[in-house]
Amino acid sequence: MLKTTCFRWTVVLRRSCSSASSESRVTNPSILRHLTSKITATGAITVAEYMREVLTNPVSGYYVKNDMLGADGDFITSPEISQIFGELVGIWCVSEWVASGKPKVLQLVELGPGRGSLIGDILRVFHQLQSVLHGAEVSVHLVEVSPKLSQLQAQCLAGEYTCGGEDELVYRTGTTHTGLPIYWYRSVKDVPRGFSIFLAHEFFDALPIHKFQRTEKGWREVMVDIHPEEPDKLRFVLFPTPTLASTTLIHEDEKRQHLEISPEGGVIVQKLASQIAEDGGAALIADYGHDGTKMDTFRGFRGHKLHDVLEAPGTADLTADVDFSYLRRMAGDAVVCMGPITQRAFLKNMGIDARLQVLLRSCHDATTRAQLIHGCDMLTSPEKMGSRFQFFSLLAPSRLTQPWEEGEGLGRRRRGPAPLPVAGFSELGL
Ligand code: SAH
Repeated sequence: MLKTTCFRWTVVLRRSCSSASSESRVTNPSILRHLTSKITATGAITVAEYMREVLTNPVSGYYVKNDMLGADGDFITSPEISQIFGELVGIWCVSEWVASGKPKVLQLVELGPGRGSLIGDILRVFHQLQSVLHGAEVSVHLVEVSPKLSQLQAQCLAGEYTCGGEDELVYRTGTTHTGLPIYWYRSVKDVPRGFSIFLAHEFFDALPIHKFQRTEKGWREVMVDIHPEEPDKLRFVLFPTPTLASTTLIHEDEKRQHLEISPEGGVIVQKLASQIAEDGGAALIADYGHDGTKMDTFRGFRGHKLHDVLEAPGTADLTADVDFSYLRRMAGDAVVCMGPITQRAFLKNMGIDARLQVLLRSCHDATTRAQLIHGCDMLTSPEKMGSRFQFFSLLAPSRLTQPWEEGEGLGRRRRGPAPLPVAGFSELGL
């Protein structure tokens, strides 16, 4: 078991929010114009295409143009609320690396790192646990489509960095403040092979979804069309006949009346699963979601308030709860899936209460102490983020099997020590 008793916990001041206020962001007419001319030319578009255009269109997409995180933005995430979140995820990464037999190479891969707060907190843990990680070749790999956010990540994480060309798979490289190589990619398929710990926090909920409605004639796909009476407004319609997505994506045993499926999320999980099965490693996916029970969760957020998803596209975040039952099905049998379990259970198992006490002991400023307590409450309280957010993990099957090792006497083999429990998904004995 990973011993963390000598780990120094320091209080870190969060960067002040520099994002443009959502109030100052006016309607983004170019996206609406682009969408209406596309629909006029080719007919109603899928919700997935609508989401992809609104969020990641390379010219005017919401993620491409904005820093939407933080108190002044549209939503706030757990790593932005408290440093303890990233520190506990950092311990989880080291714990999985130790339990996997301390492989020589350790790639830390984050999908959609936002402002880089989670990975920044993890790198601080890695630096403080140098004696445990001794001898490992650690490198950091960030998958980010947003030029604006990747620039913020570089400023926050890297002492020095250089930018690659537009067409290069690695579009930026550098060295972290703690001296580790760091690389940026647009797609997870470009990350090199090797033992990797993949992290995805509030990433899968941002991926485009297809929406389907069960009707008397069978499943029909929900599409986005121009409103017949108001040409600058959009509305949802049902496609009259089956579409490619409605005939290929829906599982035959499906019981729900309405469905949201992200094939892009499925492809990414398949890639993570095959890499983990072949090269070893693990993935930790944390997001708001459900295990195949919810139906209509597509929604928009602007300035921390719910926002009509079809209104003023490009000015609000669009998101849908992650269906972990779908991700589990896509991961297949080559990996072991753990969870989903609630964020509260995961953080409690990781020892959040003990961590808070240690931080409070070293902090004498009343405001910072109050922020630390408030942050932990936000993360774990069932009425706040404790129940809605779920943790899910993919592991190499070898991680959970008891290895054979040579015993006494020629040719005698006996079972090795039992595998270590998976931190977070069971109580961590510190
Ligand atoms: N993980 C961060 C940010 C969450 S917001 C946090 O929890 O604070 C979603 C992040 O995913 C942003 O960084 C966004 O730019 C990125 N993103 C969204 N769609 C993406 C895609 N298709 N490929 C890569 N990154 C994407």
